[in-house]
Amino acid sequence: MSGMVLRMFAFQRCPSFRVKSVVGAALICAAFHASCAPSDAPNAASNANSSNPSSSNPSSSNPSSTSPRGERPFRHVLLISVDGLRPDALEPPFLASLPSFARLLRGAHTLDARTDADITVTLPNHTGMLTGRPFDGPNGHGWKLNDDPPGRTQGGTLHALKGAYISSVFDVAHDAGLSTAMTVGKTKFWLFEQSYSSSNGALDTMPPDFGRAKIDFFTYARETDGVARVVAERLRDAFARRVGSLDFVHFAAPDAAGHAHEWILAPDSRYFAALLEVDAALGAILTAIDQTPGLAARTAIVLTTDHGGGAPAKTHTDVLSPLNFRIPLSVWEGGDGEPSDLYAAFPDRARPARDKRIARDESPQPIRNADAGNLALELLGLPPIPGSMRGLVAIPAAPSLTSAPASPDKNKAPAP
Ligand SMILES: [Zn+2]
Repeated sequence: MSGMVLRMFAFQRCPSFRVKSVVGAALICAAFHASCAPSDAPNAASNANSSNPSSSNPSSSNPSSTSPRGERPFRHVLLISVDGLRPDALEPPFLASLPSFARLLRGAHTLDARTDADITVTLPNHTGMLTGRPFDGPNGHGWKLNDDPPGRTQGGTLHALKGAYISSVFDVAHDAGLSTAMTVGKTKFWLFEQSYSSSNGALDTMPPDFGRAKIDFFTYARETDGVARVVAERLRDAFARRVGSLDFVHFAAPDAAGHAHEWILAPDSRYFAALLEVDAALGAILTAIDQTPGLAARTAIVLTTDHGGGAPAKTHTDVLSPLNFRIPLSVWEGGDGEPSDLYAAFPDRARPARDKRIARDESPQPIRNADAGNLALELLGLPPIPGSMRGLVAIPAAPSLTSAPASPDKNKAPAP
């Protein structure tokens, strides 16, 4: 277990000294940590606070100094979702054929995480990952549609449905000066590009103004190896430009194979063939990291999924079935460390019995895929998403800061 992950929920490290506009960060900081110790600011986020003298003055009370590996926040984080990933695919004997997945398990991980408590389909669960919110309940994002969203002028944003701004992992990272991207294998993810566009994203109220478009690059790539190529190039480019980065990466192939041929875990099944395909793509991304000096030590990967699959046989809609709601979640911090238990890093959570469903308001909560976004931000040394949930604890939401005229898009990739 590395120190970075251990710190996750043991206490809230205080990154607000180099965060400009994340409302609530200072509040959370004050609540959890009376004396905030600055740490090394490794990326573009530090530019936003270069005038803050504390940002270049690491303190001995910095939690980083307690890390057995002496880590600092990572400069590049990939949040990878492998759509429809069964957790038992990552166990023997299957794991032996999936070397890239196996490598990503060489860190803190669990095969007993959970989807959203109330829904086990793609878009609502990915909305949970990216906003840190459950689907249902007072803090729920409420997005149920699992298809291409309506246009942005027809209510096709998370905020329009909720009637309030819903912050995302991209708001936090982009406002801190990081380069952000989504590279996805399904067109329904356009929901996020619409929600965080130059006209619908929140204002960046603290200088320098990085704009309202919170996702710098949105790419739809139908082929699995195409996703890997885009992500590898993104990493190399961010490294060359000396800018920190947060990428959401989505592989659709296992879900497509499951819908067409069932979620059959066997060496000759179509589902397993899709996992092999994703494993090769993950291998290409890992190779890009390995072969770029400087990237290897500063890149972390959070790997999870939106749901398992197989109940009913060619889908994953039964929210009561462990085939659907039991999922993996891993945090890879580079190198080839020893596997460890992610639950050890979450003192407010408890591993559920293997096939037990835990309701949304039950205490304690399991680790869920909706924790992935805040995990990614923690790895970058950034505060949690305003309005998100950490187990049963709500992070204060940001006020709706969307009333000013739209600023021009910068660095926008064309729509799919
Ligand atoms: Zn599906």
